[in-house]
Amino acid sequence: LSIWSTVPAGPPDPILGITEAFKADKDPRKINLGVGAYRDGHGKPYVLSCVKKAEQIMENEVEDKEYLPITGLPEFIKHATLLAYGSRCIPLNEGRIAATQTISGTGALRIGAAFMARHYPHPKVIYLPNPTWGNHIPIFRDSGFEVRKYSYIDPTTNLLNFEALKTDLRSAPEHSVVLLHACAHNPTGVDPTLEQWGDISTICQERRLFPFFDMAYQGFASGSTTRDAFPPRYFAEQGHQVALCQSFAKNMGLYGERVGTFSLVTSDPEEKARVESQLKIIIRPMYSNPPSHGAHIVNTILKRDDLYSQWEGEVKAMADRIITMREDLYNILTKDLKTPGEWGHIKSQIGMFSFTGLKKEHTVALAEKAHVYMTADGRISMAGLNPSNIAYFAESVNSAVR
Ligand code: PLP
Repeated sequence: LSIWSTVPAGPPDPILGITEAFKADKDPRKINLGVGAYRDGHGKPYVLSCVKKAEQIMENEVEDKEYLPITGLPEFIKHATLLAYGSRCIPLNEGRIAATQTISGTGALRIGAAFMARHYPHPKVIYLPNPTWGNHIPIFRDSGFEVRKYSYIDPTTNLLNFEALKTDLRSAPEHSVVLLHACAHNPTGVDPTLEQWGDISTICQERRLFPFFDMAYQGFASGSTTRDAFPPRYFAEQGHQVALCQSFAKNMGLYGERVGTFSLVTSDPEEKARVESQLKIIIRPMYSNPPSHGAHIVNTILKRDDLYSQWEGEVKAMADRIITMREDLYNILTKDLKTPGEWGHIKSQIGMFSFTGLKKEHTVALAEKAHVYMTADGRISMAGLNPSNIAYFAESVNSAVR
């Protein structure tokens, strides 16, 4: 008998399962709206020009294949935290933001959760929005947190249910951790307004909740990295000791390079040094040190004015293409096809995803009859739409809901 004979088969990953079904489908009209990676106007993966240029520069300038320090490339961390927190951030300018390079946003969440599990001096309870990115739940559960939910979207309108959100946060026990998507909430595409962020900050202060930001889409939502970073910057300004996970997967298209940071606001440089020493103690036995190539790419882009402005243009172009697809989809559905139902949320939602409001039976019918693949909750990746497939997609939705 094999040692592993009693290991049960786990369920397939819901999103990768969609990709499998998509690949097996032979119909030329097929569309994959499941995966959260940007596609260009021809449906192809896109390597940013600033990334290609950075790699050329790196060939001559930087790279050996030596190990990075345990917490990563120091210059990269300096530029990445500046991008996240902004040049006016007082804790950053006072040298009291503890930070480490991480294995993209997932690694940031995981290291952050591990640090909190070991050092947060209160019960390990985290509130996640309902719904949230599916991976948040096992990341925090596997790190020893009790995972609870706070209300987020109103399923009848696909808009934010802010009253229910406030009620839930107000009734959370003091010192609970609250996970906040900094921008482009995944999977709904619905973000609080600036005013609502003010209320959330006040509730966190009143109830002593700990704000833990996940910023996987800075710049990708509005096209402006400054605008998208408003929530964590505002919270830091209000005196919250925020935690922040940062990913360069989407905004630099560096998915497979795995580049990100995890950071925490501390009270002074001495405390920052203590916190960083503990981050090292967590990271060293897990993977020793992070990969080097992607961090050098990001560093090269962020530190050079020419590449930085080129990058800003390319982020904006990606965000704008998605916003155009939202407008086109809305117009085809409501004006051309007069599809029954309310579709305004497609335009008001932001970022990579749209929560269409399509029900599970619609998504099944779309896959079986129209060769259109999306997650069962009706989430579509807007980046999967382009001028060649958007009309077919809209017609398929129109037929599915009639
Ligand atoms: N957080 C959210 C909300 C995400 O949507 C994603 C990716 O889809 C991530 C974090 C992490 O992505 P990565 O580990 O590729 O940076």
